[in-house]
Amino acid sequence: AYLDRIAAVDGDVNAFLHVDDEVALEQARAVDARIAAGEETGPLAGVPVAHKDVFTTKDMPTTAASKILEGWRPPYDATVTERLRDAGLVILGKTNMDEFAMGSSTENSAYGPTRNPWDLDRIPGGSSGGSSAAVAAFEAPLATGTDTGGSIRQPAAVCGLVGAKPTYGGSSRYGLIAFASSLDTPGPFARNVLDAALLHEAFSGHDPRDSTSIDAPVPPVVEAARRADVAGLRIGIVREFSGEGYQAGVLQRFNEAVELLESMGAKVVEVSCPSFTTALPAYYLIAPSECSSNLARFDAMRYGLRVGDDGTRSAEEVMSLTRAEGFGPEVKRRIILGTYALSSGYYDAYYGSAQQVRTLIKRDFDAAFEHVDVLVSPTTPTTAFPLGERTDDPMAMYLADLCTIPTNLAGNAALSVPCGLAPEDGLPVGLQIMAPALADDRTYRVGAAVE
Ligand code: GLN
Repeated sequence: AYLDRIAAVDGDVNAFLHVDDEVALEQARAVDARIAAGEETGPLAGVPVAHKDVFTTKDMPTTAASKILEGWRPPYDATVTERLRDAGLVILGKTNMDEFAMGSSTENSAYGPTRNPWDLDRIPGGSSGGSSAAVAAFEAPLATGTDTGGSIRQPAAVCGLVGAKPTYGGSSRYGLIAFASSLDTPGPFARNVLDAALLHEAFSGHDPRDSTSIDAPVPPVVEAARRADVAGLRIGIVREFSGEGYQAGVLQRFNEAVELLESMGAKVVEVSCPSFTTALPAYYLIAPSECSSNLARFDAMRYGLRVGDDGTRSAEEVMSLTRAEGFGPEVKRRIILGTYALSSGYYDAYYGSAQQVRTLIKRDFDAAFEHVDVLVSPTTPTTAFPLGERTDDPMAMYLADLCTIPTNLAGNAALSVPCGLAPEDGLPVGLQIMAPALADDRTYRVGAAVE
């Protein structure tokens, strides 16, 4: 049924970069056989999932929506991929995204933008916009994403879905094509909090193949999603994330969600996190710096595309031609920015001070969590904006992640849950719930109470 739905609507939505019906059906039949043989499969056995094209899959191409990886077939499965398969999930196909996960609208894909099913002239968020659009358009009940600066929570918010960024190190980066290694975090998309928790649990947990993976049990997210009560919980509203620059209808729905939580017995206080206002500039030094280093591996020798290798050119010339043609403009902008910020003479002033700001943000969180159990804010300052509106203005595009980035810099857990439609445009609004590292269950507990 989902394959039929994809065939019917994906021409308009463009959520998928790759779907092979036969490969999907083969997986479904294999799961049937496992169940028939009496194997103990989990609660998601046989459930289809849309998989972001940034995770390696050995039976499907993996491009990270970049021309430079066109034609590449990974020889191995990412840990997240492997765990989806072990849990009996059926991978329907690979979803569109901003190239190498750099963006907030999926317009930076080399394979055309994805459209928001709520309004096809608007963005589905990004970078995991193919995943959010697939679930919102009923092309899949579940999807995977990665969140480096907001790329799960922001698309979930603007598509009316639940999306979670687990604690950094709580889900494995092995086989995830790296953007900014100290921030990248795989996480789930779903239509409700319990489904998201089940997917979260299915692919998270310690992985010895990822050196930053945390060797601790997965927080009890499923139990928390079922519990769904907030009585006695202390909730902090981040003062810095409201007011000017926020759409009126977004603030209205956010305030109503907070009132609802209060009426259910939560204790709500206002909290100030002054360093959060410096998170965006710090992020846009740290993330490009790490990307400039990570993307050096695309050297025309190892993967996919190779341009101008006609026997007359040096390896350096072929590398240069390949990177010039293979990378899109946003990726090039970040490589240049990051290389500059890391160069000797500038390192301390840019990368060094951004890392210090990162510590201040972490301290703001730590101080806040001495008084409250979770922090809340709108997930994004506005609802889904029109396609093309911000493509010529990177700064305006970067603002989409204003509220989500502090959590990534601190390595904490956060979740976005729908909290109604903005009255002025009828588009979904997301409530962001932030918790300390390894307290992911708190975000699910509050999220389930709100939905
Ligand atoms: N929009 C942010 C960026 O462009 C975050 C992306 C992400 O989380 N992958 O870097």
